[in-house]
Amino acid sequence: MNRIFGNRRIVVMGMGKTGMALATFFKKTGAEVVISDCLPEDKLNDKLKTLRNLGISFETGGHKERTFLNADLVVMSPGVNPQMPILKKCESKGIPVIGELDLVAPLLTVPIIAVTGTNGKTTTTTIIGTLLRATGKEAWIGGNIGTPLVEAITKTNIDYIVAEVSSFQLETSNLFHPYVAICLNIDQDHLDRHSNLDAYVESKLKIAQNQTQQDWFIYDRDNPYIKPGLIKVASQKVSYGVASSGQEAFLKDGKIVVCLNERWEVKIEDLNLIGEHNYKNIMAALLTMQVLGCDFERIFPALKQISPLPHRLELVRSLNGVKFYNDSKATNVSATIAALKSLPRPVVLIAGGLSKGQNFLPLLPYLKKRAKALVLIGEATAEMAALAKQILPIFTASDMDQAVERAFELAKPDADVLLSPACASFDMFKDYKERGEIFKRAVYAL
Ligand code: ADP
Repeated sequence: MNRIFGNRRIVVMGMGKTGMALATFFKKTGAEVVISDCLPEDKLNDKLKTLRNLGISFETGGHKERTFLNADLVVMSPGVNPQMPILKKCESKGIPVIGELDLVAPLLTVPIIAVTGTNGKTTTTTIIGTLLRATGKEAWIGGNIGTPLVEAITKTNIDYIVAEVSSFQLETSNLFHPYVAICLNIDQDHLDRHSNLDAYVESKLKIAQNQTQQDWFIYDRDNPYIKPGLIKVASQKVSYGVASSGQEAFLKDGKIVVCLNERWEVKIEDLNLIGEHNYKNIMAALLTMQVLGCDFERIFPALKQISPLPHRLELVRSLNGVKFYNDSKATNVSATIAALKSLPRPVVLIAGGLSKGQNFLPLLPYLKKRAKALVLIGEATAEMAALAKQILPIFTASDMDQAVERAFELAKPDADVLLSPACASFDMFKDYKERGEIFKRAVYAL
């Protein structure tokens, strides 16, 4: 590593979690590293303290042309838009500009299981990592999910890397090569960042761009956007879906059936995860286990123990017969539809927040079928209310406390309360986690 990066001038763009991990990695290799962020110094205090302690140079409040044009290599954090003029200028001067995936791809020697999709990445990555560990394998779990992939480079004694990869990471990748690539679903999301749905689909399917016939591509055959891209996938394709017509994984008589090599059956009543979408996530995970030749006897007890992750259709509390579910991570329409389809009783839905240019229309049939009332918060309130007002009673709330109180009153006695916003949280909250925590606090205050 020292030989590759030592004495090279490297600029890392963006001081997010990945950017900080990248800068730390390069510093250890002996490179001359500068990390650059557009935010002003007073917004980055903690990070700058860490950088000073590590002896890493930084610039804040913008990206200086001199810094960038003086570099041998520029590495972008996943949040950075690769179309930025400063990056284009670097490329025009012959300075390589790469993302995290292309940095790590040549340096990782362990087989990679990579999970992408609009929804379900974190859940499925966690299930796969947990099941692998239950079979005695050493699985490193990371990527978009928490620990940046660059940290896996220096890990030893691991059997597999299980990585959640986002469309933003894939967009800038040319070298990434997973042994098992999973595409869970593709739906409209992040249209504020990707120019259109085609561009978004293309970036998701880049997960398989370097795969060969020795590798595996696992995908949801019910998703209409994945199918047209399959022609470009060179690896062995395995699909899962709700209905069966002789395929390798499906749902039948209340059971998840997976039969790529041998036949495994899991009763859904034995699971803590609920909803068709989660059964599909489990199919993707179990297919991966069959590809890797794992033993079902060791997998099954671990699978039964898996519970929803926080903020993903998480049951918070039952009060006066009303159940409260926190699905704050549902930041797009398809995640909210998945939640509405999963719960057994009608719900009062708390939704709204920052719209990401998405179309809310597909929500309407599910609101009609599954929701008793809608309580709206945040910037998308007017847009969502205008669409849904013909269908069900609508209420607005100025904060989460008010939304929860209102929803509780409306739900009694025969419905449950579901926070599943279909929107981003940044208009009212720091992130989806804060939104979910504030919801839970309001629920416990009732
Ligand atoms: P991601 O990491 O892709 O955002 P998460 O596992 O964190 O995925 O889940 C995000 C949201 O999507 C949650 O609301 C969750 O209930 C929902 N979800 C999980 N799996 C799926 C799926 N396969 N299809 C649709 N929605 C899903």
